[in-house]
Amino acid sequence: MKYIGAHVSASGGVDQAVIRAHELEATAFALFTKNQRQWRAAPLTQEIISAFRTACEKYGYTSAQILPHDSYLINLGHPVEEALLKSREAFIDEMSRCEQLGLSLLNFHPGSHLQQIDEEACLDRIAESVNIALDKTRGVTAVIENTAGQGSNLGFRFEHLARIIAGVEDKSRVGVCIDTCHAFAGGYDLRTEEACVQTFAEFERIVGFEYLRGMHLNDAKSEFGSRVDRHHSLGEGNIGKTVFSWLMKDSRFDGIPMILETINPDIWKDEIAWLKAQQKA
Ligand SMILES: [Zn+2]
Ligand SMILES: [Zn+2]
Repeated sequence: MKYIGAHVSASGGVDQAVIRAHELEATAFALFTKNQRQWRAAPLTQEIISAFRTACEKYGYTSAQILPHDSYLINLGHPVEEALLKSREAFIDEMSRCEQLGLSLLNFHPGSHLQQIDEEACLDRIAESVNIALDKTRGVTAVIENTAGQGSNLGFRFEHLARIIAGVEDKSRVGVCIDTCHAFAGGYDLRTEEACVQTFAEFERIVGFEYLRGMHLNDAKSEFGSRVDRHHSLGEGNIGKTVFSWLMKDSRFDGIPMILETINPDIWKDEIAWLKAQQKA
């Protein structure tokens, strides 16, 4: 069973995100549980928590179908101690919010070395940050997203994801989310079925499907291997539709949220319907 949806807005409250997902006829969704461009947010009230839980029950979403995303400001591999602490605190708060909402996953971007420490040191800091957050929360898995490798962002190689996982003590609460646009921009070809087979064989060899907790389904405005992060609507970009059709037919991607972060929300409903149809096509 495929869970397919989009990253919907939570404006007006996290419970509104559930309604928006339902309107898209989505079987999965992503959301921010706080403003993604601010460090601080008011704590979730008991009222909003129960409104969210009630909406999920009403519209039939379990935590396995929901992939919350953390704030863009957080850098769990920050080279400077004080800034690293600030990020770790914010990440623990994000994990706690997920726990309060009854969610089981939190998708995050690994971090950036900012040209101040080497890659390995940065990846090890990220793993340590995850260890600290897992220690302070219950029931939420930290889901590392692969990146396009823009600037000094790590996570654009499967080896980066594997190294972070290796440093996490509780392997049952760490996973990965593969963003197709980021993978393509990071140098993993997805333009043909053969390329998809090869890319995910490499993923299996380096990381392993047992860690796959989610997918982001995006075409790319950016070029192959460009390390530039520019999403596009399915079939409109440089990857093309083949990979998305291919993913829908492969059972290794069953039971995880598969989330559109494509650039035109007006066609999300159509994109979701098209993805669903590919399962049988
Ligand atoms: Zn992301
Ligand atoms: Zn993404």
